Amino acid sequence: MSENTKGNNFIEQLIVDDLNQNYSSDQLRFRFPPEPNGYLHIGHVKAICLNFGLGKKFQAPVNLRFDDTNPVKESKDFVDAIKKDISWLGFQWDKEVYASDYFEQLFEWALELIDKGLAYVDSQDSEAIASQKGTPTRAGTESPFRNRSTAENRTLFEEMAAGKHEEGSHVLRAKIDMASPNMLLRDPVMYRILFEPHHRTENQWFVYPMYDWTHGESDYIEQISHSLCTLEFKPHRELYDWFLNTLEPLKGLRPKQREFSRLNLSYTVTSKRKLAKLIEKGIVAGWDDPRMPTISGLRRRGYTPASLHKFVTTAGISKRENVIDVGLLEFCVREHLNEIAPRLHVVMNPVKLTITNFPEKLVEEVVGDLNPEDSSAGSRNIPFSKHLYIEKEDFKEEANRKFFRLTIGKEVRLKNAYIIKGESVIKNEKGEITEILCTYDPESKSGSGSAASQRKVKGTLHWVSQPHAQPIKVNLYDRLFLHESPDKSEQDFMDCINPDSHVVTTAYAEPYIKNAEKEDTFQFQRIGYFTVDPMSTNSSLVFNKTVGLRDSWSKK
Ligand code: ATP
Ligand code: MG
Repeated sequence: MSENTKGNNFIEQLIVDDLNQNYSSDQLRFRFPPEPNGYLHIGHVKAICLNFGLGKKFQAPVNLRFDDTNPVKESKDFVDAIKKDISWLGFQWDKEVYASDYFEQLFEWALELIDKGLAYVDSQDSEAIASQKGTPTRAGTESPFRNRSTAENRTLFEEMAAGKHEEGSHVLRAKIDMASPNMLLRDPVMYRILFEPHHRTENQWFVYPMYDWTHGESDYIEQISHSLCTLEFKPHRELYDWFLNTLEPLKGLRPKQREFSRLNLSYTVTSKRKLAKLIEKGIVAGWDDPRMPTISGLRRRGYTPASLHKFVTTAGISKRENVIDVGLLEFCVREHLNEIAPRLHVVMNPVKLTITNFPEKLVEEVVGDLNPEDSSAGSRNIPFSKHLYIEKEDFKEEANRKFFRLTIGKEVRLKNAYIIKGESVIKNEKGEITEILCTYDPESKSGSGSAASQRKVKGTLHWVSQPHAQPIKVNLYDRLFLHESPDKSEQDFMDCINPDSHVVTTAYAEPYIKNAEKEDTFQFQRIGYFTVDPMSTNSSLVFNKTVGLRDSWSKK
């Protein structure tokens, strides 16, 4: 980085300024610190792109640190899923580290605070401690155990660590100030007793450090230059500073903490606790259900890393809380898939269409571009015959002038093929249309260069040849919540669930679909983008709807 370079957001600018003043570029180090208690979600994508993006921009290392201080909720499976998701987004971490790597060091430092008279064992239960916290305007009450002797504190804490005391019987607290205007400084708990094996340290510990005691120290141990976190951690800064100041003389670089706003998305919940509840209650099939806002869910749904990068870059990094319209996320994936997805004819809701003047046995091959946005994509042949399927909704016996699809007596073009004219219909005894009869203009073939091929008609329909149609299983997905802000609605978020967020159907595709492989994405023309579910088997591929071609919700 040269001097005076401008940052793209306030955090980049801070780093540029630091480099221009008193930091050298080899001091820069960032980290992304997930707690392995669930899968990463779209909010995390923002924090990942920020930290790893800074690493790329300033050519500095980025650690992946698992904040694994709560063995009750954490697991190796979550660790693995998190690593997979970050790699899929295209980022590489420098070191894979764990807060649990520092349990020994943290324990030593806790003893140091005890020896300095700045930490004590409190033998009250959690309700009693909570009741003494006070309020922002009223000081808290000091614990009756606050003035235990150093020797007693040390013995008790060592016994706690050795598993000699029951869960809940004691905690270790920092001795700061029960009247501090910052509630977090009112003698925060540093350790609690947990008889729970840890996915890494196994049965080594019976006390586990609290997040606030661990987080700032871990940043310091790793010599993170800029510790970036979401706004709710702003008041924690003072506590992290207190811990590091009391452990003086520490000689290393002090991490500089800066806060940015969380990414909130309309029609979505992102708290891991709430996502876990959706799974627990069977609303979704798991963390990677394609309706989940998790990275794994979005991947299964057909989102690309590029579309997620574009989304968080467009949403930006700011200091103010806001809610981003989920339409922006959908727009970003639609734009990217428009560039890369091959086009296919797929009929979702078929009705038979017979071309009465087309020879019965003839199968003609017509040619369709695979991607008009990308000339290198080439084309495919599509079989055309007397017996076709079109979408039911593309035909009306009688329609007003605004209906640009097929009606009796009017012409439309069949995409990549001929112009046809509606002639009559066949109905069943209930009066429902079972077949549409039409005629075609043999001179009007697309791309043939004839005068009739240039003839303009109002509508173009997609179609498939009946004898060649490939039935495919399709998962149609819609938003999981009906309420724009399920977190803030009057109802509980569990009461705003869209009952139609997942519909399974069979659709009919042109034969080119046989080339599809897992995770391939296609544009089903005039319908939307669909991705082969990576969890489906090769012998029966399932297509997940990623997004429609247009924002259908904007009209609702
Ligand atoms: P959740 O509320 O979803 O459980 P969390 O903050 O507890 O999230 P962590 O695993 O602790 O989840 O988060 C790891 C990092 O990702 C933290 O630095 C956190 O600030 C950041 N992060 C989490 N959620 C968001 C979000 N919605 N927007 C931006 N950053 C986020
Ligand atoms: Mg957290």
